[in-house]
Formats: sequence, structure tokens, C-alpha cells
Amino acid sequence: MALVVQKFGGTSVGTIERIQHVARWALDSQARGNDIVLVVSAMSGETNRLVELAKQIHPMPDSHEYDLLIASGEQVAVGLVTLAINTEAEKRGSLKKGQLAAKGLLGYQVGIFTDNIFSKARIQGIDTTRLKSLISNQIIPVIAGFQGVDSESNITTLGRGGSDTSAVAIAAALKADDCEIYTDVDGVYTTDPRLCREARKMSRISYEEMMELASLGAKVLQIRSVELAAKYRLPLHVRSSFNPVEGTRVVSQELLGGQMEQVVVAGVAADGAQVKLTLQNITDGPGVVAQIFGALSRASIVVDVIVQDIPSNGMLTISFTVGRSDHLKARQVLDELKAKTFSSLRIAEESDLAKVSVVGVGMQHHPGVASKMFQLLADADINIKLITTSEIKISCLIAAEKTKQAVECLHRGFDLNRAD
Ligand code: ASP
Ligand code: MG
Repeated sequence: MALVVQKFGGTSVGTIERIQHVARWALDSQARGNDIVLVVSAMSGETNRLVELAKQIHPMPDSHEYDLLIASGEQVAVGLVTLAINTEAEKRGSLKKGQLAAKGLLGYQVGIFTDNIFSKARIQGIDTTRLKSLISNQIIPVIAGFQGVDSESNITTLGRGGSDTSAVAIAAALKADDCEIYTDVDGVYTTDPRLCREARKMSRISYEEMMELASLGAKVLQIRSVELAAKYRLPLHVRSSFNPVEGTRVVSQELLGGQMEQVVVAGVAADGAQVKLTLQNITDGPGVVAQIFGALSRASIVVDVIVQDIPSNGMLTISFTVGRSDHLKARQVLDELKAKTFSSLRIAEESDLAKVSVVGVGMQHHPGVASKMFQLLADADINIKLITTSEIKISCLIAAEKTKQAVECLHRGFDLNRAD
């Protein structure tokens, strides 16, 4: 008997029909002799709707009550999914009188404890007592993803897409055998199929590659969920709730075995929502850079590519990129720094940029991947504005309008259109 955590994303619970499908699926999985735990997201579009409501009141809502608000979509989904499972079980006549097939639980009812960084909270611990007792009574816990509770009983949320992280954390805490992430695509693709028709589903991918792809904008998994899965060596299975075929297994590099050797580039990612900020006219000196990026990090802004030019006349120029969603906040922090400390600072911005990246663990041992990427972009007449590399990835910042073209030429240039 296996303990399986199944997470259903927004589109998988997007309508009452889909919710009834999830109920049947969970009960069928249980009937095959497994213990099942469900984690659900809000119905598709719901969290966006809640965010929009808040934004009508304040452009940068940032408070305990914002999390209280945006966590509410999951409560609706938990209520409906639990109701659907209990109704279906009753119909199947598989329950004794008075017995429940499923029990819905919000984060605080489980005991999903987080820090108090609202909207980006991190899970600190999960109380498994209640879950274990439900499981041992063959009752399926249906848990609200995306949310937790801080030490002062405030509702917190884990960042957009956070129900993946909830599922992985719960699976790790319960030492589950499998963690299945159900979504509306049937796995992880070599690139975004909307950008490139030749995109292929991968049967397996390493945690490391998945982390890079997720951090680069592949939206299939929240990056923190992959980090957590890697830490606990928990295998993930990303698959579709619309199509019962095998999806993509996210596993450790060792499990990929010999296969890994042949693949230099596993995937191409594109993130179209980048803003480049250039800071000019900063008096150079020790601690200056630390001060600037310290202020940005205290505001929980994720800074990506950073390029520092050689100072001229003792003045420093630094460029860096942030995601579009952090743009306003970053601007505010920089304006404050200018007012308080760096009065001569000039800030230039360039939006409408995209980052295209190639990712693969194999490139650690294969020279020439970077030069090949630059050549492919050059041949497609695409200008590169910034470059950054890590051991298993190379990213180039380009004009957003060239994204599709760039992805297509890289996907083909690195032979990703061929079967694995
Ligand atoms: N409902 C949340 C969101 O839309 C969490 C999730 O779907 O994972 O971001
Ligand atoms: Mg998601």
C-alpha cells in the first residue's frame, strides 16, 4: 500500500464537472489500495480575481488581510472537492452509515506553520497528527494549498503557485511514497508549447534542471516546491487531470543514469516579464553595492541578472533585472535610496524585455554551449542585451517581441525537437 499525495491545480478544479472528476479519481486511486491525501488550489482565475479586487483599493496591497483575502479561493475549492468526494462515495455505496470519505481542512486546521513574511511565507513545520489519524481511518484529507498560519494565528500565503509547495511539504512531512501534481498539461515540456510547436514532453527531468526551468518562468511548478522535493529526495510526478497518460517524473540526477550523458540541453525557457533597471552616477566605494541590494532584499524583491560596469571617474553603473511584478516596489526602494543616501543617482528603466535560457545538467561537461547559443540568436538577427550563466544554464535578455523566434531557433538548434 502506498501513501500518495495528489495535488490538483486551478484548472483541475475549475468547474463543478472537473471537481466531480477529481472526486472520482481520488476514490479510484484509493480503491486500488492506496492511502490518498489531496491538496487543492483555488478554482482557476479565482486568485487573480481576488488580487484584482484588492488592487482596486491599493496598488501594492501588503498586509495580513491581503493574505487572508487571497487565501480564500482555496477554502471554496476544499469545500467543493470534499463535498464531491463524500457525495460520490455515498453514490458508490462504499461507506458505512455515518462514515465520511473525505474531510476538508484549511492550513491552520492541519497545522501548517509558516513565518510571517506575508504573500511569500515559508513553511516552518507541519503537524501531521490530524492527517495521520484521518488516513488511518481511510478518510481522505482534502487540504487547502497555498496557505498556512504564523505564530500569531494570522493566515499567510506562500506566493503565487504556492499550492505545489504545500503539496510537496505535506508529502515530505508524511513521508509519502509519491507526490502527484495534476495540472492542465500532461507534463514538463522541452519548452513552452504555446511558443514552439515542436515542444516535446520529457519523460524524466532532474530536480536541478526543473529548478532552473521553474525559476526561468516555466510555470508548471512553483520553484520552491522543486527545491523542497530535491531536499527530501521526494519524487514528483507532474501529470494531467484531463488525460490519464504518464506525465513527467522529476527525480534526482543519479536516477537519470546514462541518459543524462547524451543530453546537453534539456530545455529552453522564456520569461517575458522582465524589467531592466540601470543605476548610474553612484559614487564608488566599499559597501555601496551591498547597501543597494540589501535594501532591495529587505523589501523581498528578487533581483536576477546583475551587471556592474567598470567605474569611470569614480562613478559606478549597475544594471539588474527584476520581474514585472516587483517593478513598482523596486522603483520605490530606489527612489528612497536616492532621497536618503545617493542623491546623484540616476535611474533608467527598460521594460518589454524577455529572458530566454537554455538549461541542461550535461552542459557542465560540454564546452561550446554558450557560443552555440549566441550564434543561433545572431543567425536569427536577435540582439542580446545582457547575459548570465550558471553551471547548468545560460540566459540572454532580449526584446520581448523576439521571444517566440528566439525559443524556436534555440529549440531546433539544440536538437530538442528529436525524441528522447
Ligand atoms: N491559488 C494560488 C495561485 O493562483 C495558489 C496556486 O494555485 O498554487 O497562485
Ligand atoms: Mg500552479
